[in-house]
Amino acid sequence: MRIALISEHASPLADVGGVDAGGQNIYVAQVALWLVREGHQVDVFTRRDAVGQGVTTLRPGLRVIHVPAGPARHVPKEQLLAHMPEFARQMLRFCSARDDSYDVVHANFFMSGYVGLHVKQAFGWPLVTTFHALGLVRRQHHGRDDGFPDERIAIERLLARRSDLVIAECPQDADDLMRLYGADARRLAVVPCGFDPGEMAPVDRQQARTVLRIARDAFVVLQLGRLVPRKGIDNVVRALGELRRTQGVDGRLLVVGGDGARPDEVCTPEIGRLRRIAEEEGVGPQVHFTGRRGRAELRLYYGAADVFVTTPWYEPFGITPLEAMACGVPVVGSRVGGIKYSVRNGVTGFLVPPRDPRALARRLGYLHRHRAHADALGRAGLRRARATFTWERVARQLAQAYQSVVPVVGAVRVSPPALVVAPLAS
Ligand code: UDP
Repeated sequence: MRIALISEHASPLADVGGVDAGGQNIYVAQVALWLVREGHQVDVFTRRDAVGQGVTTLRPGLRVIHVPAGPARHVPKEQLLAHMPEFARQMLRFCSARDDSYDVVHANFFMSGYVGLHVKQAFGWPLVTTFHALGLVRRQHHGRDDGFPDERIAIERLLARRSDLVIAECPQDADDLMRLYGADARRLAVVPCGFDPGEMAPVDRQQARTVLRIARDAFVVLQLGRLVPRKGIDNVVRALGELRRTQGVDGRLLVVGGDGARPDEVCTPEIGRLRRIAEEEGVGPQVHFTGRRGRAELRLYYGAADVFVTTPWYEPFGITPLEAMACGVPVVGSRVGGIKYSVRNGVTGFLVPPRDPRALARRLGYLHRHRAHADALGRAGLRRARATFTWERVARQLAQAYQSVVPVVGAVRVSPPALVVAPLAS
């Protein structure tokens, strides 16, 4: 198949771990790569956010097409919708200039979906949408001033109805799409996210600690991901304080992520906020911020940890628990969204309520006291991750899902119903 992936703000080439670059970037990069390995051809359309970006061929069959829409610099994703009509126009122009066509267009996030609806309207190619996050769910947690314009909800509703297929990332996502957006179960497929076994695999804990200069006998709790309030990192810091006060355990918390390679409070203000909470909790010296880390180094951080913790308020999927499992590390995560699907409570780790430092501290204390059980949970996580969540498997499932909407060659093509998409103002 010839596949167009649209990912307006999340480029597969970006450094991840900052405010606006995380799971979606990894998803698009890995899905594209594994689809190409399966023999498909993939073009990724993403917004040009630096001067000099054009069409980049990453390997035969895989191109990244930087679309000029808005300034050639980073623009926060909350402010990007205004540039999407231009993105759509540019993509239509690019596609019109080609001799051949795409078999399927896979849009990622609602703004790419907006572009995808225009592409579908112009060329009739089937549209598959992965939302990655839903505006109405976000509003339940952030309130109305979530930063995104109100049109987001209307666009998402239209996409839920007009996409040929919607990809939910976990059962909770499917439920939200049907309950909140009226998505049709017959045009919904659940395909999770994944990890790359070449990137994430167990390493010897003591060796990892030697490289990272971490004491051999420390009880190391790892938090890794974008440093934004909804990830509930404050909850983990507070749990560390609780662990110390109630169980006398001095854990060491490593916080990996941020907008720069150094843990700089100017670049990443969330670090300042978390440091203040750590001081309040009396665990300032036990919390260590590393800044953003590159993909090649991550397995060392996972490998050095006794336990990986992620307690967001909500989570559309959450790739980091898979990465931890793939490195053989037990996970304690909030009982929300994709985490309650990827982590098996009592089997690969534990599920706890979000925003509940006491519950988290109890689980951390348990894992500290029962090291052998903690290791067994880590091994079970590794087995589950390898059996269920590799990107190779995910890409195959997506390719199958695409096939279900690609018209059979030679079949009479039924014109799609006219779409109600706002015309592109010139
Ligand atoms: N990540 C990274 N370096 C960092 C911090 C995070 O490469 O310093 C990656 C992390 O390994 C994961 C992704 O960013 O692959 C975060 O994805 P997740 O789905 O967990 O969260 P999201 O960003 O989608 O909210």
